[in-house]
Amino acid sequence: MNIAAPVRLPAGKADLSRQAEALRPTHMNAQPILRVVDLKKTFDGFTALDSVNLTVDDGEFLAIVGPSGSGKTTLIRLLVGMEEQTSGEIWLRDSRIDNVPANKRPTCMVFQSLALFPHRSVGENIEFPLKIRGVDPALRRARALELLDLVRLPQHYYGKRIQQCSGGERQRVALARALAFDPEILFFDEPLSALDFRLRKMLEKELKDLHQRTGKTFIYITHSLEEAMVMSDRIAIMRSGRFEQLGPAEEIYAKPKSRFVAEFMGEVNLFRANGNGGTVSFEHVTVDPAAAAKRGLRPGFSGDLMARPESVRLLKPGERADVMATGIVESEYLLGSRVQYLVRLASGYKVTVELSRENRVTWEPGQSMGVGFDLDRAHLIQEA
Ligand code: ATP
Repeated sequence: MNIAAPVRLPAGKADLSRQAEALRPTHMNAQPILRVVDLKKTFDGFTALDSVNLTVDDGEFLAIVGPSGSGKTTLIRLLVGMEEQTSGEIWLRDSRIDNVPANKRPTCMVFQSLALFPHRSVGENIEFPLKIRGVDPALRRARALELLDLVRLPQHYYGKRIQQCSGGERQRVALARALAFDPEILFFDEPLSALDFRLRKMLEKELKDLHQRTGKTFIYITHSLEEAMVMSDRIAIMRSGRFEQLGPAEEIYAKPKSRFVAEFMGEVNLFRANGNGGTVSFEHVTVDPAAAAKRGLRPGFSGDLMARPESVRLLKPGERADVMATGIVESEYLLGSRVQYLVRLASGYKVTVELSRENRVTWEPGQSMGVGFDLDRAHLIQEA
């Protein structure tokens, strides 16, 4: 693969390198393949990317999620070489690649639009990157047929026109084309967002499967948290050009560092601590003092108490929980195997409760109902 000659990390950058190293996943033993050091991008004075540090391991599946405008695409465009950084460094193993042109980087991008040639055949599309690099036609064809197998398309699709392929088949062709030149890292910019729900669900699993079969490193932008959680080893949550939190999906879901991440990672109940009184108290709910003390909650705690809907239960008469409130069931939503309730408290705050379908309760409009959860199912958020 034609990339820049290896360059050693300059001694003066050791601190930045250590910062990036600190963000390495701890659950994998693989070697780092990509290191981003203090990467920054401004457009006419506007900071789209603000000193991002990141280390990605060889063979990892990293999802980048964040609200619109948070800098996801900008980051990926810098990594693949479609845009030049304002400052910072990008390293691929021991080589600094931020000065290497996009077509010389051993990376490949799969776009939402797929960017296939509609009038050409599946084979011609897959072979395109090989053709522009002057690969022999017989070798190109052999590689295309091999890739059709890899993405689980029949070999006779080689001659089929893109226009005659379904949405899911086009996705597979785009993947095969991305893999044609055997890139070290594949970048995806919302490749499934234009597809219908059923197809998207199927391709999510196929993509995860393809990741495992190829052993390649995947870096994947998505708006869909569910997609990120299904597929990736780690998730990076972006906000205003920075990583707000980076870690395994389960950790980000269960232990968000901020209200922003908690709210971004799906439905959540958040209760803010009540100032500096002599007891531990939170808005909207009452907390059992003994349970609070056991959890290490001291008066003066400043932060939020978080409970995901599946951690909250509807209390039977006389039933107790560490954290409790009373409200009126406002609505019920059936979510397939689960059922969700919205309970409006006297303060106006709405608690979301999610139960498995077999625990569905009968309720009357306007009926008063206790809600509660135990502190071992809750998470405390203390923002810096
Ligand atoms: P989305 O999810 O909507 O695609 P994103 O997280 O990918 O958003 P970016 O496309 O990276 O966000 O944009 C980050 C910020 O940088 C936005 O405010 C955007 O307007 C700005 N930006 C991106 N590209 C340019 C450009 N070429 N010139 C000026 N501003 C830009």
